Amino acid sequence: MAVPKRKVSPHRRGIRRSHDSLKPEAFHECPNCGELKRPHNMCDACGHYNGREIVAVGL
Ligand SMILES: [Zn+2]
Repeated sequence: MAVPKRKVSPHRRGIRRSHDSLKPEAFHECPNCGELKRPHNMCDACGHYNGREIVAVGL
């Protein structure tokens, strides 16, 4: 089993974890219906993208 050569100091560990609190904000409000959608993707709720209806949804 591979074993770390040295104990990671609390400072080093803190450096490593400094990015842990960053989380991706990969959602944006759809301008047509207000649902959350992923950027650069068609809206799942209403099928709109860039102000036009691309896919007819539901009903
Ligand atoms: Zn929408």
